[in-house]
Amino acid sequence: MIVEVKNIGGELFYNQRFNYMTRKWTDGEHTFSDPVLQVRRHRRQLQHWLSIKNLPDLPIYCLVSNSPETSIDTDDPDLNIVIRTDALPEKIEQVEASHAGPSIDPTSLDRLTKNLLDDHTENHYDYLDKFSLNSKDFNKEVICPTCQHVPMRRIYGTWQCQNCGYKNAEAHLAALRDYYFLYGSSITNKKMRDFLMLDSPDIANRILSNMNLSSSGKNKGRVYFLNF
Ligand SMILES: [Zn+2]
Repeated sequence: MIVEVKNIGGELFYNQRFNYMTRKWTDGEHTFSDPVLQVRRHRRQLQHWLSIKNLPDLPIYCLVSNSPETSIDTDDPDLNIVIRTDALPEKIEQVEASHAGPSIDPTSLDRLTKNLLDDHTENHYDYLDKFSLNSKDFNKEVICPTCQHVPMRRIYGTWQCQNCGYKNAEAHLAALRDYYFLYGSSITNKKMRDFLMLDSPDIANRILSNMNLSSSGKNKGRVYFLNF
């Protein structure tokens, strides 16, 4: 079951004659592409994927689930795959009840599971592009988790807050997680020094090797892959 979850508030109208969605909200009316077409496309793509992997042709259900703060209307009285999130458990029970037995044998299920995991690709959402940000828009450096002071300084192998005195050897992890969501998984010694405001390549190296990251390349060109 593919559930396309829409967190769009306001009054939604699913126009199924011309396949678009409108939303009335305090800032007026806006038109969106049709989530019904979207979820059906995802179903076709999954069916296609099953067939190229020589996996059994499974029944695939699709639903568009809307946030409980939303009111929904449509021009299509037969549209039964658009629901509000409150109705999801009941809808799943209905689908389960409509099947007599399993649609797939255990061996194929194992193969399906393995194929799904092998073909999984991480979606890296580009926040910088989406919100037109550049590096001047946010704090680099290590932020003190206790008093939010920036920056913490690395002194004798641990991060120290100049403001409240809090110490933590692993305080860089939160900053590197921010880096990961902003720039993606690959990082070099130089990029890390730049982001954590570290002067010493040796300290950066120690931090990177302690994190046991996979890497490629050698010496200065070595790229590490963050994994959060
Ligand atoms: Zn502090």
